[in-house]
Amino acid sequence: MNEDTPDATVHDVVIVGSGVAGLSAAVYAARADLEPIVLEGPEPGGQLTLTTEVENFLGFPEGIGGMELIQNGKEQAKRFGAEFVHGTVEDAALEERPFALELSNDETLRTQSLIVATGASARWVGAENEDELMGYGLSTCATCDGAFHRGDDVLVIGGGDSAMEEALFLAKFADTVTVVHRRDELRASDIMARRAREHDQIEFRWNTELLEIHGSQDDGVTGATLVSHPDGRPKEKLGSDEDVESEDVDVGGIFYGVGHVPNTTFLEETAVDLDEEGYLQTLEGMTTETAVEGVFGAGDVMDPDYRQAITAAGTGSMAALDAESWLEEQAVASQSETAVAVEADD
Ligand code: NAP
Repeated sequence: MNEDTPDATVHDVVIVGSGVAGLSAAVYAARADLEPIVLEGPEPGGQLTLTTEVENFLGFPEGIGGMELIQNGKEQAKRFGAEFVHGTVEDAALEERPFALELSNDETLRTQSLIVATGASARWVGAENEDELMGYGLSTCATCDGAFHRGDDVLVIGGGDSAMEEALFLAKFADTVTVVHRRDELRASDIMARRAREHDQIEFRWNTELLEIHGSQDDGVTGATLVSHPDGRPKEKLGSDEDVESEDVDVGGIFYGVGHVPNTTFLEETAVDLDEEGYLQTLEGMTTETAVEGVFGAGDVMDPDYRQAITAAGTGSMAALDAESWLEEQAVASQSETAVAVEADD
């Protein structure tokens, strides 16, 4: 930790993450006069900024754009006094309070309480050349990059709601969209699966995985090697006696829709509990408290199950309320200690 930090300010609450969970926490904490600092990391606004229309957030009967929802939330939080700061937490010292958060720009933030709302980031599948071609025809965000693929044949990897959403969005631009799924059964919700299955331009390749991506940074993605096996998960069978079929296809774009990994690397060396996938663990029962007193978790970073914008907003508000009560308890405890010390002196 940088001990020479010029800023000795100790904040009441720092909220790490500016997605829907962080923003909801910021609105509640700011309305409680806690003057929260909201850290905006490498994906400001979180996953909703990569979504087109949000149809299931209560209160918007016609739906609302993901970006608009986030911008509204940010304005709302600012209106009550939340301060937004750019920065990624590299290291967190949570053994004693105030906590110290070391940021990527070498600054250190000190805070009495911490709300972790860092969300989850897009997972990659581990295909050959993906490092080189990410951003050059390979993408994890159809909303961001779909329009570059007018008239192309594209692949979407995955079988969940994200993959269906990507496929449906891409079908507006691409000539054909092929969903490549490693099993023969979709994980997506019935409504999303039906929309994709009924779409004329969307095809499915079952029991198939992406092995290699062809192309270059100059030419972009030009094709892919797919492998398939009738029992699914063909990559696991490569190198065994099983007969895995391999096929090269010409495509102009590939989109990953294979889920997300929680952003908790900075907590790995702390006493905050993480599960084997890295999801932050809150204490049992309906609370956002963690194993470290004064640290609270909200949104997708602590929720591998629901992962909805509305649930993230809900847990964000809970985290701010939990932090507020905890800070009040600390203030009461410290007042009683002072009173006891004064009595002892008398
Ligand atoms: P998900 O439900 O975890 O689905 C991930 C998909 O990717 C699965 O089909 C999985 O295959 C596949 N996959 C994972 N790793 C892979 C790999 N290495 N190679 C190939 N395939 C791989 O994730 P999600 O689709 O992002 O959805 C997450 C949550 O957000 C869900 O609760 C979903 O309902 C919600 N969501 C909702 C909407 C909406 O309502 N508009 C949109 C997006 C997401 P297996 O099936 O074989 O495991």
